[in-house]
Amino acid sequence: MKYPFLSLKQANAPFEEELKHAALGVIESGWYLHGEQTELLEQEIAAICQTKYCVAVSNGLDALRLTLKGYISLGLLSEGQKVIVPGNTFIATVLAVSDAGLTPVLCDPREDTMGLDAGKAADLIDDDVAAIMPVHLYGTPCWDEQLKELAVAHNLLVIEDNAQAIGAESDVEGINGTRRTGGLGHAAGISFYPTKNLGALGDAGAVVTNDERLARTVRALANYGSDRRYHNIMQGYNCRIDEIQAAMLRVKLSHLDEENARRDAIAKVYNESICRPDVITPTRFDAMRQVWHQYVIRVENRNDFMQQLEEQGVGTDIHYATPPHLQPCYFEDLEGHTALPVTEDLADHVLSLPIARPITEDDARQIAQIINAI
Ligand SMILES: *Cc1c(COP(=O)(O)O)cnc(C)c1O
Repeated sequence: MKYPFLSLKQANAPFEEELKHAALGVIESGWYLHGEQTELLEQEIAAICQTKYCVAVSNGLDALRLTLKGYISLGLLSEGQKVIVPGNTFIATVLAVSDAGLTPVLCDPREDTMGLDAGKAADLIDDDVAAIMPVHLYGTPCWDEQLKELAVAHNLLVIEDNAQAIGAESDVEGINGTRRTGGLGHAAGISFYPTKNLGALGDAGAVVTNDERLARTVRALANYGSDRRYHNIMQGYNCRIDEIQAAMLRVKLSHLDEENARRDAIAKVYNESICRPDVITPTRFDAMRQVWHQYVIRVENRNDFMQQLEEQGVGTDIHYATPPHLQPCYFEDLEGHTALPVTEDLADHVLSLPIARPITEDDARQIAQIINAI
């Protein structure tokens, strides 16, 4: 494939020497969990998200689960309450909610941003809705005045799913006055899955928040429920991060801004060069910083289009072909959901173009020409 959709080996190649050096440091230190690397990573992630606290954990799904369970154990959420989530998201957002004994209420997204539609969310509010989970899908901040007002007016906890958007910045201030995703709401879950913009060499994730009690609760829950060694204040889990992964992430993190800028430059080339009546390109918002976890177009005859691109050496992928409410595991539990026409339409038409290394701006120009000529 001339233009692979994704090659993790090539994506990590520029950092290989640094990664090896950092891994060796951990191996030689003899300290493999909850050590210096984890502590430094937490400080650095909190700084990027403009939050006071960060707890590094095992993966992104656990970050979201622990956040919800943390709020439950603090008495700020209770089992059976409802959480509004976008209908068009990676299933982990919804899994975290149902796993915590809360009820996911699916909300159709906006056509333009593909992010949660605050107007439609307002229609879903009732006395049982206690929280809302905006997902910064594909690296575009999902936050606006309307969403903020809705959360404040109904006293909702705002838990961001920031799995796809570390380093992104909204044009509208969050409830704490900062603009970085992860710090816009009350708490956020982050994923460091290898394909994410800040990817580990295995599983990892983090919770960020300004709420000291939540941070302490999540930290305890992730470590058997203990607040200190052999002292368990909660019935917890083991959701720790490895020192090796923390070290890998610190290397990658030192390059995150330039890597995100690189993706934005490629997205700009695509947007300026792709020109077809049957293709909708994603919006680049001047006032925000988008980090382009995926560059997602919408196309009429997706199967044909994918196949022709493949034949011409362009790898593509679909995020996501089946929305959570159409997955067999949720047939029963999400039965009463409202109609989700935009979600289902997106699932039928979205197509992700290559944007990660080794793709360059020149490659994007070539790929756009191939697309225009189909
Ligand atoms: C990747 C992802 C998750 C889950 O993260 P993992 O680290 O894979 O557990 C959750 N939500 C969204 C939107 C994601 O993209």
